[in-house]
Amino acid sequence: MKVHVLGCWGAYPEAGEATTGVLVEHGGQRMLIDCGSGVLAQLFQRVAVPDLSAVILTHHHHDHAADLGVLTYALLLSRLQGTRTQKLPMYMLDGPADRMKELRSEPLIDLHVVGPSDALTLGGMHIRFTPTVHPVPCMAVRIDTGDASFVFSADSSWTDGLVELATGASLFLCECSMYRGQERDAVAVGHMTAPQVGEMAEQAGVGHLVLTHLPHYGDHGQLVAQAKAAYAGRVSLAATGSTYEV
Ligand SMILES: [Zn+2]
Repeated sequence: MKVHVLGCWGAYPEAGEATTGVLVEHGGQRMLIDCGSGVLAQLFQRVAVPDLSAVILTHHHHDHAADLGVLTYALLLSRLQGTRTQKLPMYMLDGPADRMKELRSEPLIDLHVVGPSDALTLGGMHIRFTPTVHPVPCMAVRIDTGDASFVFSADSSWTDGLVELATGASLFLCECSMYRGQERDAVAVGHMTAPQVGEMAEQAGVGHLVLTHLPHYGDHGQLVAQAKAAYAGRVSLAATGSTYEV
């Protein structure tokens, strides 16, 4: 399984970059998780519209969903040009009525409204979710392929459910929105600080922790140091274009 980080910023993208988007490749499948601002420009460097296998959306905040509308347009043009005839399965929690209506209006989109405790299998990928703690309904994602496992936290405050989902994961891509000392602010907005993320990785016993959903201030090196203080394993910072073989 290959995991490509298409964007790593919380809230809005820095120049030339993107907010949340992850491309997962396995067994010929190319699955996009989240479709934030600037994500399509990064995605299309690796996968063309006709070759995308599925989309999972963790929640309906703009920094995870802003490019969904233009993905709908890309599918429309692909359909009109005849370059794609297969429907694109999209899995997500129920969301804003206008967005759901728009997604349902494109014939090439096969929209599946899932529950946060559902599971599905795509190609050789066994996928399950768990609800996170966030101001809007949100789900973390776990993908198991038999010999590897990848967990993406989506957005969340601390929750034992996320520890459980991440337990034993080869790769844990976890939101890390704030620094030590901001724990109260983090809970208020449904996010985690670096020490909490490190503690979560330690409790879950993951193989490799990658920090994402990064803040636009401070020194990201401090995020790594603060996570490492609680977690004995390998810690990396996500970056646009980084790829992890799991
Ligand atoms: Zn969010």
